[in-house]
Amino acid sequence: MLKAVKVRLYPTSEQKQLISSQLGGARYVYNRALALRKYAYQKFGSKIGKFALINHITKLKKREQTAWLKEIDSQAIQQSIANMDKAYQYFFKGGGYPKFKSRHHSRQGYQYPQRVKIDGNKVFLPKVGWVKMKGWRKDFDGKIKTVTVSYEAYQYHASILIDMDEQDTAIKHNSKSIGLDVGVSLMVADSSGTKIKPLDLKKELSKLRTRAKQLSRKKKGSNNRAKAKARIAKQNLRITNMRKDFLHKLSRTYSENQTVVVEDLKIKNMTKATKGTVETPVKNAKAKRGLNRVITQKSWGMFFEMLNYKLRENGGQLIKVDPKFTSQTCNKCGHVSKENRKTQDKFVCDSCGHSDNADTNAAKNILARGIHGNNASLQIAV
Ligand SMILES: [Zn+2]
Repeated sequence: MLKAVKVRLYPTSEQKQLISSQLGGARYVYNRALALRKYAYQKFGSKIGKFALINHITKLKKREQTAWLKEIDSQAIQQSIANMDKAYQYFFKGGGYPKFKSRHHSRQGYQYPQRVKIDGNKVFLPKVGWVKMKGWRKDFDGKIKTVTVSYEAYQYHASILIDMDEQDTAIKHNSKSIGLDVGVSLMVADSSGTKIKPLDLKKELSKLRTRAKQLSRKKKGSNNRAKAKARIAKQNLRITNMRKDFLHKLSRTYSENQTVVVEDLKIKNMTKATKGTVETPVKNAKAKRGLNRVITQKSWGMFFEMLNYKLRENGGQLIKVDPKFTSQTCNKCGHVSKENRKTQDKFVCDSCGHSDNADTNAAKNILARGIHGNNASLQIAV
């Protein structure tokens, strides 16, 4: 269903001038196109098509005399030609011959197809800017088809044509929401029960270790040592890029949702301070695990940033919640106990007997916390 809403515009004096230019430009284009068509018809008995007319106006923009046409919104120009074309078709169906538009006519108007945005009590008109308006209601929700700006009796108005059945595709309104439980070694379990396999970097990491060994055998200050260092840097870069690529794909997949809930890593703090860097691999196993945690946490931080950005682009949102007890809480009855988690994988509630995959159960708790806020004071929306 199409709905036309007329609002009153309150442009600033500068915006009034810009609107006046658009009005004049649209009128000029209409008259020019009509004159050309009339001329061609009378002289050659042929009709100049819409696209030829648009091309003609584009050429005029390049001429010094008519270079001012560049200031006119190009879609408004096309719309002006389309309107003339419509008037011409009406004439062929037995209507009156299209008239030239006069600058002295009491009502002046021009039209924008699309690209008009509305934010609160302001409307964005291309080539004019954000103009204050009155008469718009929030529940006029739908896709904006055309906006006709008019000037009459010293007042500015906009007629906004909305398709109420069609949602603005720029903003996705689905109710899909999902919770994600992220773990070490780039593993994800979501609340729908899907588990994403961790990125397999075994080969690449073992290659890195080999390179590190090679480096240790090279003489300090030698050419070969410099070469060995460069090979390590190259391998590190390769691993970094593989991680990034993996996280980009993952975030793209989950950004299809309206709402994604994740744990706040600042609170979760998967890591303890560790020594060593990737370039100088640490030897003892405990320190190595710690190092892996640092890398994983950095990766998740990056993943959440990517996800947040992609969700926002789609009109969605990322919610971060306190991760406390998400792995020990029964999603069915809410009972919290360490004993609920039988093994790394298995969750069986001590109270109600509900069983689930441990990570899936945690992801469901994360989602519930984000949506229902059973720990609302700890929710952090980003
Ligand atoms: Zn339970």
